Amino acid sequence: MENIDLHNHSRVSDGLLSPTELVRLAASNGVTTLSLTDHDDVGGLAEARLAAVEAGIVFINGVEISVSWGNHTVHVVGLNIDPTHHVLVEGLLQIRQGRVARAKLIGDELAKVGIAGAFEGALKFAQNPNIIARPHFARYIVEQGHAKNVSQVFKRYLIKGKPGFVRHRWADLSEALHWIRAAQGIPVLAHPGRYEMGKAKMESLLDEFVEFGGLALEVVTSNHNKEEVEIFAQHVRKRNLLASRGSDFHGPGESFCEPGKLPELPYGCKPVWQMWSPPSTH
Ligand code: AMP
Ligand code: MN
Ligand code: MN
Ligand code: MN
Repeated sequence: MENIDLHNHSRVSDGLLSPTELVRLAASNGVTTLSLTDHDDVGGLAEARLAAVEAGIVFINGVEISVSWGNHTVHVVGLNIDPTHHVLVEGLLQIRQGRVARAKLIGDELAKVGIAGAFEGALKFAQNPNIIARPHFARYIVEQGHAKNVSQVFKRYLIKGKPGFVRHRWADLSEALHWIRAAQGIPVLAHPGRYEMGKAKMESLLDEFVEFGGLALEVVTSNHNKEEVEIFAQHVRKRNLLASRGSDFHGPGESFCEPGKLPELPYGCKPVWQMWSPPSTH
């Protein structure tokens, strides 16, 4: 039985496991094809690929790019990318520079509400100093005793309207899709059910995504309830897009859904993996 999971994080971004540990966990959960999709960085792919060979599973290069679309932050996963392509490499470098600058500002804002040393603290939790993400701040804030867990830190400090939230301009949607396509990858709109927007806005996001060359929606992901899975399955069928399946696993204890422990794609959704695995081959 195939078990395909195309959205996972390692310590190269905001995950808790090394790429090797992630691959081993996925394989032991029965995953047969895995993608590592760290935020804005491809630094874990070589290690993950090696571990996948050892574990006897198929590995697909991936990345999850942070995008600003109007006032929204949305994430676009690039699957089966060439991680060495200069257009993608340069684009991601630019995003990472912005990320570090944002992290310093988050540190300043948190200091104003009595959380000292948060930039340095978050950095300590980040294995890769170029990817300091909000979960690293959250882990530091928990360690400092200001909250009991990461989820509580987000609610109190890190989401829109809270003291440690800093507005930030990520890549444009057109740029991110250009980078992925230049690197021969498949652009997938990640966890669309998580974006807080009405139906009309979602339609125009999907219009633009398709216009710029987007090919797939993540229909099945740990953040989608049954209703959201069905909503995005309908979008995929209506627009003749491909459907992806990915846990968005970050680590034991922080993610409730482990790699591979996801429902199947709904009926009538064309799987994104048909792009690299024609049914005639094994
Ligand atoms: P950043 O890219 O630095 O803004 O961080 C975004 C990451 O924070 C996401 O990829 C998730 O891993 C995590 N995240 C976002 N919202 C929440 C939340 N409400 N609770 C826990 N983690 C979250
Ligand atoms: Mn994340
Ligand atoms: Mn995401
Ligand atoms: Mn993710």
